[in-house]
Amino acid sequence: MKFGGTSMRDAAAWHNVLSIVNASDEPVIVVVSATSGTTNQLLRCSELARDGHLKEARSVKDDIHTKHVQIVQDFADEFAQQNQDQLKKVCGEHIESLIQKLDDYLLGIHTLGELTPKSTDAISSIGERLSSFMLAQCAGSLGMPAVWVDSADVMKTNSDHGQATPDMDAIHKAATLIKYPVEQGRTPILGGFYGSDSNGVITTLGRGGSDFSASLFGLAAGAASIEIWTDVSGMFTSDPRFVKHAFSIRELSFNEAAELAYFGAKVLHPSTIQPAVEKNIPVFVKNTFEPNHPGTRIYSDVSTSSPVRAIAFKKDITVITIISSRMLLAYGFLKRVFEIFEKHEVSVDLVSTSEVSISMTVDKKTRITSVVKELEEIGTVNVYYDQALISLVGRDMMKTKGVAAQAFSALAEFPIRMISQGSSDSNLSVVVENDEAIDAVQSLHDTFFPVHETVSYTS
Ligand code: ADP
Ligand code: ASP
Ligand code: MG
Repeated sequence: MKFGGTSMRDAAAWHNVLSIVNASDEPVIVVVSATSGTTNQLLRCSELARDGHLKEARSVKDDIHTKHVQIVQDFADEFAQQNQDQLKKVCGEHIESLIQKLDDYLLGIHTLGELTPKSTDAISSIGERLSSFMLAQCAGSLGMPAVWVDSADVMKTNSDHGQATPDMDAIHKAATLIKYPVEQGRTPILGGFYGSDSNGVITTLGRGGSDFSASLFGLAAGAASIEIWTDVSGMFTSDPRFVKHAFSIRELSFNEAAELAYFGAKVLHPSTIQPAVEKNIPVFVKNTFEPNHPGTRIYSDVSTSSPVRAIAFKKDITVITIISSRMLLAYGFLKRVFEIFEKHEVSVDLVSTSEVSISMTVDKKTRITSVVKELEEIGTVNVYYDQALISLVGRDMMKTKGVAAQAFSALAEFPIRMISQGSSDSNLSVVVENDEAIDAVQSLHDTFFPVHETVSYTS
């Protein structure tokens, strides 16, 4: 069971999390995120320190400190059934030691004026190192037989800081650290998102990575299911925060869920499904604040009659186009283009080509100046910032008569910069302007999920 940031926002939420764990008939391994907003605060204070604002950085650090002390005090006062003072003391010491470490890092970064991916990982992991340890102590104060396991000892990865790749063999070996307590009738509680490399240096799996941690631990421990507990009741037909009448989908295939996550459905980290597929482990997405709602079950195959299952979107992407008359009938041209991307380690998401041009999308975060410079040697390059990628995800979409026509008539009012259809017929993507993305998604949603259908799905 993995509980995300909002599920860990305050003492009442922690109590709720522990009640869900306690209610399980089966033994549970618990993976938690940092408390809500903490990872962002950690990243912010490290950047402030780098940019010379040590005082402001320390003030953010103090907020993190206060928030965690408050949670443990509230938990001890309102919920703990035993050892309240011990709980405050043990957690207090843990908080002090990590906050002191954070202060040391901030000072070092400020002095050097440099923030490396390695130090960013040391800092951003502090949120999960705090929350997981403290939750395990809180569980103990309720009489639950829980034990904190440091993910640095289990989530072994390579040294690619900020986006580390898990080392599955090492994780399998280290998994005794979580299997053993389970055999003893205890509940291991771990922090998601972080791990360590072969030298024991802290690494992270990328933003939102706690979902991925949970499925990797689930695979390594031989779990019967992987449950992602969040603040919405499952994977929806589109982001319920922005799209009216979006509704929770009862069942999705691994492939559909993975595509949705990849194309922007933040509810799941894009890599979450991969370990589950390996051993055919069902993944459930459930709501911490509505635990009786069935949520979404994600499994190898599901029967469905509708070709379009959901609509994902990702804002703030960049489109690069390259036009070259030399491309006409020339073999090897695409190779040259992609070699440039490879050389600069820039990953391309979507591609579409004509005889004389190629359009590609990349993430906003990517530095593309050097790529563009080299591309200009082989053609005319245009870069369009502030674009949004919208993806219809389902199956047999193009084989099913009318889907494309419906999609494009829903998008009739919106200028489209790029179109791409996944080779597996499970995805149709378009790129529009950022500002128009939500309206375009709403229009597609109204077309493929008219409101009267919502009623039959949710009843
Ligand atoms: P957690 O902190 O639990 O990991 P996240 O904020 O990472 O939670 O993910 C949950 C959020 O994902 C939801 O609040 C919702 O706004 C967003 N989201 C985006 N697309 C979808 C979708 N298709 N279905 C459900 N939620 C979605
Ligand atoms: N706390 C991390 C983040 O905010 C990881 C996660 O919550 O999944 O990105
Ligand atoms: Mg998340």
